[in-house]
Amino acid sequence: MIRRSMNRRDIFTGDYSRESEHGDMSYENLKFDKNDVFLVTGGAGFIGSNLCEAILNLGYRVRCLDDLSTGKQENVDLFLDHPLYEFVKGDIRDMDTCLKACEGISYVLNQAAWGSVPRSIEMPLFYEEVNIRGTLNMMEAARQRGVRRFVYASSSSVYGDHPQLPKREGTEGELLSPYALTKRVCEEYGKLYYRLYGLETYGLRYFNVFGRRQNPEGAYAAVIPKFIKQLLNGEQPVIYGDGKQSRDFTYIENVIEANLKACKASCEGAGQAFNIAYGGREFLIDIYHELAKALGRDIEPAFGPERKGDIKHSNADISKARELLGYEAEWSFERGIKEAIEWYKGIFGVSQRG
Ligand code: NAD
Repeated sequence: MIRRSMNRRDIFTGDYSRESEHGDMSYENLKFDKNDVFLVTGGAGFIGSNLCEAILNLGYRVRCLDDLSTGKQENVDLFLDHPLYEFVKGDIRDMDTCLKACEGISYVLNQAAWGSVPRSIEMPLFYEEVNIRGTLNMMEAARQRGVRRFVYASSSSVYGDHPQLPKREGTEGELLSPYALTKRVCEEYGKLYYRLYGLETYGLRYFNVFGRRQNPEGAYAAVIPKFIKQLLNGEQPVIYGDGKQSRDFTYIENVIEANLKACKASCEGAGQAFNIAYGGREFLIDIYHELAKALGRDIEPAFGPERKGDIKHSNADISKARELLGYEAEWSFERGIKEAIEWYKGIFGVSQRG
């Protein structure tokens, strides 16, 4: 069954959080072996640093591999004093680095990649090197080192121009960007590595993730942190297109849940890819106005041309992940955005009404 948060409501008046049908099914209750070690590649980035933190909070050992290209030293410094945390500065394009990083590892959570559809259109060769070759290096290193399971970040962009809503695994269209192609190729390698070598790979197709530590800086920043930062600074944000594009914005907690549950799921889903989202649909223009209201800013947005490579609408059917990974997606957009706004206010030093 797909549950959606289609109804609009002021983000501060209602909590649409999804009641867990299985209270004990939250990722906090997952049990791993006390000797298990996780490797998070891209662990200095937004999603990776949140994964590192969640694993440490559960009491397990985590190694973070990151070249700090788009990630931040401060996301490493947060955990450096933790006895169960280890940081390795290195590049997944280098096979020796990958082999060393996989030594003694039970689970790889491969997040390292370069994001952004428009940036990939500017530099396709670089995306091929990092996102495809880097991930292939990591899969091969995981195979050679006998890693138990390889969970990796894919993306909703693999659906390309297929108009079907909600998006279902198995119904994909023509790709619209080099970034999307890199993710599709990684999924194909994921399938092959399970079929040929028995490496248990799980591809997670994230849909527009947001939350604490997502970088608001730069031309290629994701839209939610970028709008929040601009609104807090009193700047006029630009919406590319008419603002009527929709996305299944997914709070970081749901992504953590998916990664950790993929480590524990039955082998039935090995070699496959899964939609990881909330299963809702938010329109960009509505989000803009809600953020402006929540931040107490009366600023109308500017509108720019549509961006090449962007899809118009996105909304996920998450039933496959529910069935095969036990994924619950307990955090609604409304509950997540409320927490994210508070977090950004904290880092920008803003009081309740700015
Ligand atoms: P991010 O840029 O914050 O994190 C990526 C991390 O990978 C960075 O810390 C970066 O330094 C590191 N990295 C990049 N190239 C590397 C290399 N060659 N060697 C080692 N480390 C390298 O991005 P994110 O939003 O946290 O994304 C994490 C993963 O999720 C990526 O694979 C991305 O494609 C995927 N994804 C993200 C979203 C989203 O909405 N954020 C959506 C779909 C898929």
